Amino acid sequence: MDIKRETLEVDILVVGAGPGGLSFAYHLAQLVGSSGGEVSMPEVVVIEKGTYPGAHSFSGAILDPRAIRKLIPDFLEKGMPYEKKAGKDSLYFLTEGKQFRFPFLPAPFHNDGNYIISLNKFTAWLSEQAEAAQVNIFPGTGGFELLIEDGTVAGVRTVDLGFDKEGNPKDNAEPGSLLKAKVTILAEGVHGSLTKQAYEKLGIGREKIPQQYLTGVKEVWDIPAGRLSDGEIVHTFGWPQPHHEYGGGFIYDMGDNMAAIGYCAGLNSPNPTNDPHYKFQQFKRHPMVRRIFEGGKMLHYGAKTIPEGGLYAMPRMYHDGLLIIGDSAGFLNSMRLKGIHLAMESGMLAAETVFEALKKGDFTSDALKWFGSRFETSAARNELHRVRNFHSGFEDGLLVGLMSAGMQMITGGFGFVDRRQTQPDYAHMLKLNEYLITKGQDAVKKNMKFDNEYTFDKLTDVYRSGTKHEEDQPPHLLVADYDICNNTCTEEYGNPCQHFCPAQVYEMVDDESRPGKKRLQLTPSNCVHCKTCDIVDPYKIITWVVPEGGGGPNYTNC
Ligand code: SF4
Repeated sequence: MDIKRETLEVDILVVGAGPGGLSFAYHLAQLVGSSGGEVSMPEVVVIEKGTYPGAHSFSGAILDPRAIRKLIPDFLEKGMPYEKKAGKDSLYFLTEGKQFRFPFLPAPFHNDGNYIISLNKFTAWLSEQAEAAQVNIFPGTGGFELLIEDGTVAGVRTVDLGFDKEGNPKDNAEPGSLLKAKVTILAEGVHGSLTKQAYEKLGIGREKIPQQYLTGVKEVWDIPAGRLSDGEIVHTFGWPQPHHEYGGGFIYDMGDNMAAIGYCAGLNSPNPTNDPHYKFQQFKRHPMVRRIFEGGKMLHYGAKTIPEGGLYAMPRMYHDGLLIIGDSAGFLNSMRLKGIHLAMESGMLAAETVFEALKKGDFTSDALKWFGSRFETSAARNELHRVRNFHSGFEDGLLVGLMSAGMQMITGGFGFVDRRQTQPDYAHMLKLNEYLITKGQDAVKKNMKFDNEYTFDKLTDVYRSGTKHEEDQPPHLLVADYDICNNTCTEEYGNPCQHFCPAQVYEMVDDESRPGKKRLQLTPSNCVHCKTCDIVDPYKIITWVVPEGGGGPNYTNC
């Protein structure tokens, strides 16, 4: 169908109103404001796929205040929301029924001076600061396609609204616009769909090791009084993750008898039944965890992927007309499991680069490559360099990983092997038979009975994420070949999508046209936008695209 689209011209387009994109916009406004009129305020537009800034922002979360202190020195006076100042820290190794506390805490696990926050509240507050600084934020507007003209990024085509499942316009149809800009900043979070297009069309990931991911699953609970101390922070590793897989749990006191509990599972698992939600529910059954949460009430749920590959997996972050920041570029300290401050710092470095580009009127790679140079001498790069081999050090299992992490602390990040080559996460998955032969029947996911009071099935959890999508819209999960799903994948991998998705979007149901056989059925309206399926599907036939604006989770206290 030939659709007529409106073209809108802005100076600077930011995709994603998260900590990175908002820090970019706010800092650019600061730089222009202090330029004494040398540079006039450009038109900065931030588009955000959630119904409001923060609706899709989800994290643990502990904030290292290094970046907010630079960006808004009086952030406390300006009302930055936080749940608690960080209190007692502890790190445990778990076995199935026991816990062993680390007698000393490695420096990266210290949280003195940090804040326990709800990222969605923090993001909403940061968006208010940005709007007060003349930044235009358009929520409910997703970016669908990166516009590339003669090799230069020219902006973004936004998502169509009001089209039915077959793609026909409904009464409220509004075709997406062509939002053209001198420079586009991709700040769309982990494994963004436009960033993926930049990888494919602009070759920004060439010569880098593949990005590696965890899927983090979290609930927020109302717990009986006195179970956690003020601002208490607990991290765990070990059970329920087998020793050859990567992952761990966390528990944070949020005050007012609220606590966050989560579990992060590596997606570089050989197990085709790897299920981060299941592991999270197992983690909650550990006696140490039960003592804290039993008798409480689950309030909220969410899931996201986490880019863990580190410095060597970060793409070239600039191109003609383009900068990539935050989680989209892999700004995450894998050892500390913290990325908010790094996303913000990347936004500020990008703002300084664009400010110089505005002065020269030059938005080509020649001008924007200074983002890379600024990063090279930044605190963010220094921090990431020290943990550059952390995640890859665990490729040979937990014990080697722990020894490697210790060696990295002594050698300034080198460890045993610097810049270890690795495969993308999906390539680690073994076919079900191979996995059973090498790891045994006990290593696959078992049936777990959820009581829906203390442990929850995926659908009950999804309900607590506030996720909503318009049902009658074109699918936002594109499966290129259902025949592979219903036949080849069933035989080879046992349909891992039904396990790895934390929102029960993928189910194998009886195929009435083939008695005794199953077929894949999708419920895209459950999707919490974590992107796990786009990352780890072994055949690479699932593509996640942005649904109609405003669709997705509506996170609260997350
Ligand atoms: Fe995550 Fe994909 Fe499931 Fe959506 S469908 S919740 S993106 S795994």
